Amino acid sequence: MTLKDIQQLLTSPKKIVLVTHARPDGDAIGSLLAMYHYLRQQHHDITPITPDVYPSYLGFLPASEQILIGEEAPEQAQEVFEAADLIFILDFNSPKRIDQLEGLLLQAKGVKVMIDHHLEPDDFVDFQFCDPHASSAAELVYEFIEALQHTKLINREIATCLYAGICTDTGRFKYNIRGRLHQIVAVLIQKGADANAINESIFNSLSEDRLRFIGFCISERLTILQDLNAAVMYITLDDFVRFNYQPGDTEGLVNYPLSLKGIRFVALLKEADDKVKISFRSKGSFSVNSFARKHCNGGGHLNASGGALYNYSITEAQEHIINLLEDYRAELVEVEAV
Ligand code: 5GP
Ligand code: MN
Repeated sequence: MTLKDIQQLLTSPKKIVLVTHARPDGDAIGSLLAMYHYLRQQHHDITPITPDVYPSYLGFLPASEQILIGEEAPEQAQEVFEAADLIFILDFNSPKRIDQLEGLLLQAKGVKVMIDHHLEPDDFVDFQFCDPHASSAAELVYEFIEALQHTKLINREIATCLYAGICTDTGRFKYNIRGRLHQIVAVLIQKGADANAINESIFNSLSEDRLRFIGFCISERLTILQDLNAAVMYITLDDFVRFNYQPGDTEGLVNYPLSLKGIRFVALLKEADDKVKISFRSKGSFSVNSFARKHCNGGGHLNASGGALYNYSITEAQEHIINLLEDYRAELVEVEAV
């Protein structure tokens, strides 16, 4: 299928499912809701859906209350996937990333369109609108709307959602910044995105628990492996309980150790009931995408990836990662920062 075919499909009202990944972040929800506000103007019947809840700090995004939470409404999720003419896959490129919705997505008969910026997409869609150099899925949603010659439909709601997606996935305009991105952001601000208000809602709305949790993780749970230019942090189930963990509370935590001089690799290990979930970040040429794919059933981007280890306790998982890093010593020691 081509973009023209998708454009043609969208000329008459369709049943559309918009879906993004589990444990959604600002880019996931921003892209999801921007597409919702865009397609709504063309009288489609649209259901935005996530596998599980989104962080409360994203609740300010317009129409967030419209999002169907798959794990809270499994029957409704099944109905909308089965009935969909079109399914937009936003900010992920492997069906594994939507947990229990994976089967529904793979069995759905509707035309599948992927708008995404991760490396190495799985082959399960009819049309890919993908660019691994893009800062965010939100940037690509903008490009998608522009490619369909609908820039004039970008209203304040769309601009707000896209700005939120871009500013979160770029770490507030630090990563994957291209001139083109700033041009897009300029348009979003002209269309009504209130940068100050969005920043306040997302970044300055922490609970006391969350701020103290960040402090605790940094002071009590961080191991610095200076000779490997690496750092490893872990969080136990008890830590989550102690700090009254809410979805989204670990967002951005993995980036703190990267601010240490010389550190080029960070792993953040989070204990869960059935696995240890891991976030990876790197600087320069060291590919955490390859590392996560090879060793932790995961993937992502060159410098930001994630995955999981099964059948390891949190302590064993940490030891395992540190042992693996020993094998990468030469690479880690030589890697340039930028
Ligand atoms: P985060 O560490 O912020 O959860 O995720 C960082 C990046 O890695 C994101 O781009 C995310 O999509 C990707 N990622 C996180 N967890 C997984 C995973 O389990 N599998 C894959 N393939 N990618 C992941
Ligand atoms: Mn993203």
